[in-house]
Amino acid sequence: MAPIASRVAELNGEGALSVFARAKELEKLGRSIIHLELGEPDFHPAAPVVDALRSAVAAGRDRYVSPRGIPALREAVAEYLLRTRSVHAAPEQVLIAPGCKMALSLAMMALIEPGDEVLYPDPGFPIYPSFARGLGAKAVPFFLEEKNQFQPDLREIAAKISPRTKVLIFNSPNNPTGTVFSDAALAQIAELAAKHDLWIIADEIYARILFSGAYKSIWSLPGMAERTVIIDGFSKSFAMTGWRLGYAVGDAKWLEKIGLLNDLLYICAPTPLQHALVAAFDLPASYYDQLRSDYARKLEMICDASAEAGIRPLRPQGSYYLLADISELGVADDQEAARVLLSRVGVAAVPGSSFYADPADGRLQVRLCFAKEASVLEEACRRIRTLRR
Ligand code: PLP
Repeated sequence: MAPIASRVAELNGEGALSVFARAKELEKLGRSIIHLELGEPDFHPAAPVVDALRSAVAAGRDRYVSPRGIPALREAVAEYLLRTRSVHAAPEQVLIAPGCKMALSLAMMALIEPGDEVLYPDPGFPIYPSFARGLGAKAVPFFLEEKNQFQPDLREIAAKISPRTKVLIFNSPNNPTGTVFSDAALAQIAELAAKHDLWIIADEIYARILFSGAYKSIWSLPGMAERTVIIDGFSKSFAMTGWRLGYAVGDAKWLEKIGLLNDLLYICAPTPLQHALVAAFDLPASYYDQLRSDYARKLEMICDASAEAGIRPLRPQGSYYLLADISELGVADDQEAARVLLSRVGVAAVPGSSFYADPADGRLQVRLCFAKEASVLEEACRRIRTLRR
């Protein structure tokens, strides 16, 4: 049989999904598993949003709509970004897509050519290097190291920029470290982007989940709006992972052009969901305040339980992930730690190496997602504590 396209051979998936598959097998055998591997809340979207979906379906709002997204949702996103992040963007600069991953893929497809170099954070979301390679580019990691509080080293980034560098992708708060890039780091990245004429893809999917301070987007820095594409969506902040809705925000002319890709690939994001989403933006600020304080409390719970078990928490500044060091756990490496957590105590976690270009760099870490109902997380913490030697 003729081989599949070589670009597909360059792709690799997410470690979390393979742990999930293994956890599901154990569940089929009757084991009780708590899923801290996938990056998703186990609670549901706010009631007014679910009601709005029912109404949208009942009212027959289920036809193809404008490929860039319904005007009311694009307006709501633009207003929300201004209100929450000082991002000035017009509704015409917002493109609604089925999920952040799709918004990210569209942006990458539209910006990256074979032979380009793409800088991305390591550890980081594994899709960035995988998809960059799939597009024929060279994925160049820049390192987020514990000795620098997982902040980027700007001298390293500057040294890695070559005439072929086209795009720098980053994610703040970062998955898996939870690092919020400092104001100084954002300013220096912006300076490098201007100097070397780079595009910035800023994946801001965890922007609403911060443990202190207000979010700053690189878009809001002088001169950055025209060279930045913001990726965000509803999966994380609005607890809607399965609704598959996200968005890209960029220069209007550029977006109009890349819109051809969404005509080609999916026509439009699901219409009833888009209508329902408009209601999500009417949620009062107290909804987010509550979410944020809940996550902060849950972070403390999982940090305490992990520390007691000999798993050293590497505290995040945002997101709902805890990256933790397992060197005191008495296991050989992250793979064994994830195996022990899963098979001995029924807690699914992602081996740290899944987030690194060189798997050896994550050999002593695991990632735990703590966006769970309080009772579920309490039970997970109880189980983790039993690992204490
Ligand atoms: N970007 C980052 C950094 C993520 O962690 C994730 C999901 O885990 C996504 C994007 C994908 O989001 P979505 O579910 O909306 O496609």
